[in-house]
Formats: sequence, C-alpha cells, structure tokens
Amino acid sequence: MSKPTHDKQGFSTRAIHHAYDAYAGTGDLNPPIHLSSTYTFPTVEDGSARFAGEQQGFVYSRVGNPTTVLLEQRLADLEGGEAALVTASGMGATAALLWTLLKPGDEIIADKTLYGCTYAFFNHGLAKFGVTITHVDMADPANLAAAISANTRIVFFESPANPNMRLVDIPAVAAIAHQHDNCKVVVDNTYCTPYLQRPLELGADYVVHSATKYLGGHGDLIAGAIVGDAETLTQVRFYGIKDMTGAVMSSQDAFLVLRGLKTLALRMDRHCQNAQAIAAFLANHPKVEVCHYPGLESFPQYALAQRQMVQPGGMIAFELKGGFAAGCRFMNALNLITRAVSLGDAESLAQHPASMTHSTYTPEERAEHMISEGLVRVSAGLEDVADLLSDVEQALAFA
Ligand SMILES: *Cc1c(COP(=O)(O)O)cnc(C)c1O
Repeated sequence: MSKPTHDKQGFSTRAIHHAYDAYAGTGDLNPPIHLSSTYTFPTVEDGSARFAGEQQGFVYSRVGNPTTVLLEQRLADLEGGEAALVTASGMGATAALLWTLLKPGDEIIADKTLYGCTYAFFNHGLAKFGVTITHVDMADPANLAAAISANTRIVFFESPANPNMRLVDIPAVAAIAHQHDNCKVVVDNTYCTPYLQRPLELGADYVVHSATKYLGGHGDLIAGAIVGDAETLTQVRFYGIKDMTGAVMSSQDAFLVLRGLKTLALRMDRHCQNAQAIAAFLANHPKVEVCHYPGLESFPQYALAQRQMVQPGGMIAFELKGGFAAGCRFMNALNLITRAVSLGDAESLAQHPASMTHSTYTPEERAEHMISEGLVRVSAGLEDVADLLSDVEQALAFA
C-alpha cells in the first residue's frame, strides 16, 4: 500500500497522494473503505506471529485498519512526524496520548486559555487520578520558565488559543520545556492544520488535532489525530487506545478525512483570505472594541504570527463595545453566518462564548480566562467574501 513519496513534493501533492498507490490492487482511484472489524490468519502460526508483532498484518480494527492506517501515514507526512494515530475525536486524541504518558504525581503545565473540554479533562478528569494541573499564561514564555519543575511531564497549549486567539511562541516554549528531562511539549494544532503551522518542526514533541474541524472540513464527522515519534505512538496505540480509551476512528470517517485532505490547501487559502477581509472590516468598525486576528498589524503578536504561521488562519475573535447584550444582539441578527459552535467548515460559523460555550463560567471566571462578555468568535467559511462582509455589517447595526 505505501508508495515512497519524493521528499521534494509539495504539500498539496502529498495531501492527495502520499502513501497510496492507485495502480495497485484493483486500481481504485480512491482508497477503499475497509469495513472489517477483524482479520483472518492463514494458520495458527501466522496468528501467533501477528500477536507477537513478528509478522506484519492486521489483527483487529481497534488497533489498526488499512483505511485508518493510510490516513495516519498521510497525516504524519504532512505534519513532518514519524508516525500518527487517528482517533474517534479530538478529545480522544488528547485523552489517549495523556493517559499513556502520565502517572499519578506528574504535573501538566497548560496555557490559561484552552478548548473547554480539554480544560475539563485536565482539571476534572486527570486531576482525579493524581495528576497536578498548573495553568500559566504561555503568551509570555517567562511564565512557563517560572512554573516548570522536575515533576512537569507535559507542557500543553494551543496556538492560536481557543477562543481568544492568543499565540504561544512554540520554539521558545519548547526550549524551556526541554531543559527538563522527560518533559514533553504537546500542541493542539486544530486551528492551523499542518498547512499553516508545523509545531514538530518548531520543536514540539507531539501534535494533537480535532480532525472534526479543518482536516475533515465539511462538518460531517467527529475525528481526531496524534502525531509524534513512532515509539510513543505505538505505546499510545497499544495502551492509550487499545486498553484505555477505545477511541477508535471508523474507516468511513477515515475515508472522509482523506477526502477532506485533498482540498485542504485550497480551502485553507480561501478561509484565510475571507478571514483577513472580515478582520480588517471589524477592526475599523466603531462598535468593535478590538479584533483579534494574527493577520492584522495591530495584533500584539503580529511578528510572532509572521514567524511561526504560514498564513494567519481562518479564525477571528472580536470584542463588541456593548458587552454581553451586544454579543447576543449581533448573534441573533446574523442571516448568512450560522450560529453554531465548531469551526473549519465550508459554512461560516459564529459563536458567543459568554452565552454559549463558556456560559457556565461566572463573569469573573471568564475574565480570568481572558474571555470578555462581548467576545464573538467567527470561523470564516468558504462563501463569497462580499456576502460575508454585508452580513457582518448589517448584524453590527443591531449590536
Ligand atoms: C473541537 C476542538 C477540540 C475537540 O475536538 P473534538 O473532535 O470535538 O473532540 C480540541 N481542541 C480544539 C482547539 C478544538 O477546536
């Protein structure tokens, strides 16, 4: 199944072709969806050898399926990692990796701003099993340097962070973390995809993804992935996934993510173009206090964005001067941009964290996590930019 891919091929070529030989077997242009839970052993000796890992071949789809393995090879190649493991969701990816790496007494240092369920998994899930969680504002790497200790096993962050778009300097944070033996850096690269940012090349140890978002790209599946060194990912496969979480991706979903990858570069270019235009419009609007978008020169970490991201991405966060009520009025006035959580779809989506994803926080807790009452998050979709701009403009009239 794996065809060697020339190192010098470009991102789009590898996103379409890597590791699949369309001339092999029955000559399918598209990789088949392998719908088998289990695999046959020609003899009992073959079965034993496969269980012992002495013979190549599939055993049971909780530990591997030809369609999911193809997606793993392709994602590893695009992220510049040795190996990948695909999972049933983004949360499945983070959970399987951390269950494998951590033991009671270990510490995670995580950024202050995290995807809500990641925050809950750390503070309500892992904490229950004796893992210590420390949150620091990683936008300033000095805060990590001050907090890190010999117990720190994991440094975890998103860049840009969900939902307020703050960036973390990946090489600077990795350099601090790697002064300590056994301390590994995990980056949630969902917002960027490997087309816009490759954390492993910048010094991180592992990348996790919600492939539900841009990688799938069409809002029709839930999926995740982990990329990193082959040895650890084998442990995650045979322990974190096989025995702990069981968060296995189905072959149908693997096929859909493979299909999404074929247009990833095209889609990301358009997401970025649309986001840049919307962000520029918002930044100059009298009802907008501030627009957080890494492609604006007014963005405090603009220089870092230029260094570490290929393009500024498709996500925007902006704060309305009118606070909570203005956020609700703006959201309700949208006609084209769709009110929904999630991101990275063809449809532009908007959510208001204070009334939606972070509504269970008190206003003080939201402030502590740098989520203002009038913050609105927009995932710029693939529609015509003129239509998106006119929807934003008319909705702002109500804000
Ligand atoms: C959606 C998301 C997740 C969780 O992924 P699921 O596929 O929904 O489990 C994790 N991190 C970020 C940044 C996300 O946007």
